[in-house]
Amino acid sequence: MTLPPLREVIARHGLSASKALGQNFLFDEHLLDRIARVPGDLAGQRVLEVGPGPGGLTRALLRAGAEVTAIEMDRRCLPALAELGEAFPGKLTVVEGDALKIDHGTLMQGEPFAVVANLPYNVGTALLVRWLESPQWPPQWTSLTLMFQLEVAQRIVAEPDTSSFGRLAVLAQWRTSAKLAMKVHRSAFTPPPKVMSAVVHVTPDEAPEGVRAAKLSQVTEAAFGQRRKMLRQSLKGLPGAVEAAEALGIDTARRAETLSVDEFVALARCLSA
Ligand code: SAM
Repeated sequence: MTLPPLREVIARHGLSASKALGQNFLFDEHLLDRIARVPGDLAGQRVLEVGPGPGGLTRALLRAGAEVTAIEMDRRCLPALAELGEAFPGKLTVVEGDALKIDHGTLMQGEPFAVVANLPYNVGTALLVRWLESPQWPPQWTSLTLMFQLEVAQRIVAEPDTSSFGRLAVLAQWRTSAKLAMKVHRSAFTPPPKVMSAVVHVTPDEAPEGVRAAKLSQVTEAAFGQRRKMLRQSLKGLPGAVEAAEALGIDTARRAETLSVDEFVALARCLSA
C-alpha cells in the first residue's frame, strides 16, 4: 500500500509542531518500521498507541499488521489520522483526549494489548509509572515500547552502583524486564530535540511474593530521597526500616544506590509483613 510521504501529510494538514504539546515528529519510515518491530510480531495484536501525532509510528504499526487504538490530544491531527484509517479499514480507532485522564483497560475492552508510544518526556514518564504500578498483575498490557530521552531510558534500565540507579530503576525492574532496545539520534526528529533519545522495551515478569508495591515505593522514596546519605540515616523516617535492613544483613553504612533490586524487594517484604 502506498501512503503519501509524511512531510506531505504534515504540509497538507498544516501540522506545525507545537512546543506546548511536546511535538517532535519522526518521518523516517525505515526507522519507524524498526521501532514497530521492537515489541515482536504484531500481526493480529491489539496495540495502544499514545500520541500518534500525524501518524508516522501509527502507519508502521498498521503495516506490521496490528489493530491500533490511538489516543491523541491535538485535534489538528485527527483528519490526517482519519485518512490513515481509510487506508487500513477497520484497523485504526482514534480517540481524542488526554491519555493521562483515560482508563486504558476500559478503552481496550479488558483485552490484552501492547503499548507503543513516542511521547513528550513528562507524559511518557507519568504513564510509565502508572503502567508499572498496575494493581492487576500480570497487567493487561503485554509489553511497553516507549521512546524517552536517553538519560531517562538509562535511569529505567540502570544497574546498582551507577549514578542513574534510583527509584525509577527499582520500580521498573522489580517485576518487569526492562531493556534499552535502540538509541535514536536527535536529528531523526522534526524539530530535533536538544538531547538524544532511546526506545525502552518492558515486559512483565512474575511479581515477587509477599511484597506490597506501596511499601516498595515508600522504601525507595526514603532511601533515594537522601541518596548521598548512609541507609541508617536515610531510612530513619520509615518506622522499622533500619531494623529490617539490619535483620536482613544489609550493612546500613551503605548508600541506597549500592543496593540491588532484590535487596529493596527483601526490605519491602520485611516491612509489608
Ligand atoms: N508519534 C508521533 C511521531 O512519532 O512522530 C508524534 C510524537 S510527538 C513527540 C508526541 C505526540 O503526543 C504529539 O502528537 C502530542 O500531541 C501527543 N500528546 C502529548 N501529550 C499527550 C497526552 N497527554 N495524551 C495524548 N497525546 C498527547
